Amino acid sequence: MRYLSTRGHADRKRFCEILLEGLAPDGGLYLPESYPRVDAAMLTRFRQVWQSQGYAALAFEVLSLYIDDIPAEDLKALCLKTYTEQVFGTPQIVPLKPLQSAGSAKPDLYLEALSNGPTLAFKDMAMQLLGNLFEYELTRRGEELNIFGATSGDTGSAAEYAMRGKKGVRVFMTSPNGRMSPFQQAQMFSLLDDNIHNIAIEGVFDDCQDLVKSVSNDLNFKRQYKIGTVNSINWARLLAQVVYYFAGYFQATQSNAQMVSFTVPSGNFGNVCAGHVARMMGLPIDRLVVATNENDVLDEFFRTGVYRVRGTADTHETSSPSMDISKASNFERFVFDLLDRDAAKIQAIFGEGLSHQGFFDLSADPRFAKAATVYGFDSGKSTHAQRLQTIQQVFAQYGVMIDTHTADGVKVAQEHVNLQVPMIVLETALPIKFAATIVEALGREPERPPQFEGIEQLPKRVKVMPADVAQLKSYIAQHCH
Ligand SMILES: *Cc1c(COP(=O)(O)O)cnc(C)c1O
Repeated sequence: MRYLSTRGHADRKRFCEILLEGLAPDGGLYLPESYPRVDAAMLTRFRQVWQSQGYAALAFEVLSLYIDDIPAEDLKALCLKTYTEQVFGTPQIVPLKPLQSAGSAKPDLYLEALSNGPTLAFKDMAMQLLGNLFEYELTRRGEELNIFGATSGDTGSAAEYAMRGKKGVRVFMTSPNGRMSPFQQAQMFSLLDDNIHNIAIEGVFDDCQDLVKSVSNDLNFKRQYKIGTVNSINWARLLAQVVYYFAGYFQATQSNAQMVSFTVPSGNFGNVCAGHVARMMGLPIDRLVVATNENDVLDEFFRTGVYRVRGTADTHETSSPSMDISKASNFERFVFDLLDRDAAKIQAIFGEGLSHQGFFDLSADPRFAKAATVYGFDSGKSTHAQRLQTIQQVFAQYGVMIDTHTADGVKVAQEHVNLQVPMIVLETALPIKFAATIVEALGREPERPPQFEGIEQLPKRVKVMPADVAQLKSYIAQHCH
């Protein structure tokens, strides 16, 4: 298996070469040269593996199709070490929960629980594997890596919980001082591991991102201090997410003649892009429904064919904050497939078009219609009022409390259900992470998993710093050894 860049660079790379990289050298994203096809016999075998050996063994089967530069026994051991009941809270890892009304013969919807990992958001599903893959590959090379990033909540904590205590890896994570929820701050700052460095910047999230950009643009500094990232464009993260589409399918169906649809709360298009990959492999997915909040760049594209990135001033701060994006960083992968893998066209629209004009328009391109017809995409959006209403409705009708991001998914899924095909909504976080909005909707506090009792009172380790590149660099330099 070789990987190419969506913008046409001549290099072809293997999995472990792109594992520790971000963008391809030409600014494109990595994708496999072709998607491995899962035929009927293989799908039957995968279902048996899922039923008899569980999630970790299924993960090994799917990952093996894409990773041929890690010996099979090592890859299997990494999967078994990652996807345990101890880390993910249940033996199924991603249990399917039916939402069924009293007296009804069939569930109206299913929720696939992806948020029982250490930080209670779906990003743990991929990040936990990434931590083990990084440790494995860095040890094999005898190298070290310093992960440097900015977070407004979910990504940073998932990265820290995945990398804590790992050999050869350090994490330097900036966040806007005092702006994350008390629960999120406690989750991150209570990590006392030597290789985890929390840096609270006196400013907003954009200041943190600007600092990360300035440091990353200093190529000498980057090389000298072995700076890397773990953002959502990383191919290994996306690949890890493909597995739970298979696990959701096997739980919702009895035979491989059946189809399912998925609705996915979306921001950077990482989660739903994994669904696209699963569908390209031949998993019987009918519709892939993209659900956005008020930041509706993606919904706009699927409705109109126009992809228009937002400015900072047009990016809304919402009650589903992990979907508050101005552009969808993984979207280029899908558009590459949509345009029949025409790298020159991708370079023109994502490279030049977006940087000069801020948008591109495929509405007149006959290939745009294939997003819905050939690739099965639908979309919808949700507002704060609809989010609250959906949280109330799901609690009243099914007795289930859902978080704000999952609520965006359920709201949009309800507009796309069809009686023949089971609809699975990916549950991307637990309500406790966004307690204030739950209280606003339901007038009561969400349940807190026992391991999080009293975390706000734990000792914290965090360095507060002004938004100053020189100070940040010197802090990293001092703590890199
Ligand atoms: C990151 C995140 C999302 C959005 O996922 P993308 O891969 O960026 O589309 C949705 N919900 C939650 C809770 C998240 O943390």
